[in-house]
Amino acid sequence: DQPTNADHTLLEERMTGATSAPPMIRMTGVDKFFGPLHVLKGINLEVPQGQVVVVLGPSGSGKSTLCRTINRLESIDKGTIEVDGKPLPAEGKELARLRADVGMVFQSFNLFAHKSIVDNVMLAPMKVRRTPAGQARSTAMELLERVGIASQADKFPAQLSGGQQQRAAIARALAMRPKVMLFDEPTSALDPEMVNEVLDVMTTLAKEGMTMLVVTHEMGFARRAADRVVFMADGEIVEDTSPEAFFTAPTSNRAKDFLGKIL
Ligand code: ADP
Ligand code: MG
Repeated sequence: DQPTNADHTLLEERMTGATSAPPMIRMTGVDKFFGPLHVLKGINLEVPQGQVVVVLGPSGSGKSTLCRTINRLESIDKGTIEVDGKPLPAEGKELARLRADVGMVFQSFNLFAHKSIVDNVMLAPMKVRRTPAGQARSTAMELLERVGIASQADKFPAQLSGGQQQRAAIARALAMRPKVMLFDEPTSALDPEMVNEVLDVMTTLAKEGMTMLVVTHEMGFARRAADRVVFMADGEIVEDTSPEAFFTAPTSNRAKDFLGKIL
């Protein structure tokens, strides 16, 4: 057989390390308004597969809204968002499928209070992916093991510490086998002594190659785990650079000001 063009492309990719895979997240010219308030202004952002992007910025700069548009918890007014090369559908089955590809962990743990930890983790795979209960349970137990709380599986959320609840929330998101994980200030509601147990789980996930977009004020995590820092102010991406460059040589006044306040 003669090699085809596709074969050549594959070979070239292997040799150069380049890849033609679409970015896991691609936002192009995204605008978002809340009434008269312009909260996202012409956002262009690409997150390649396997990359960890930390989003920094002052309160009210649009970080949460940015996250929420990516799995369409918020609609957008202009521009396009693609996840793994596919445009965000507006509604229906397609949207449910897309949401399954995009895991999200919030500041508040959002676990179902009246369900056990293992039931919390099993729920979405059974409902959305139609995974049989036995299989959903064994996957859930594996994930709880991974985040270090397998012994808490039969307890209810209120019986766990905040750090344990947030690790359960991460396990629950992972149970859907997402292609990308969004974290919106996952440690902000935690007592200080519990922050690291959650960051450790996230660091492990990052090392395993998960594509991640992480809004956080944990600068240590940003320096350690991020491939890239995106700094937002006033609805715009003001800097998009390496952690090293951002922390040692921010170029914008707004980033300098932000760093001056927190470091
Ligand atoms: P951040 O996460 O960076 O603190 P947000 O994305 O939460 O910023 O908010 C950006 C701006 O949008 C803020 O001015 C906030 O008050 C406003 N905002 C956020 N959510 C809503 C909403 N549902 N309705 C109206 N305004 C909102
Ligand atoms: Mg926020």
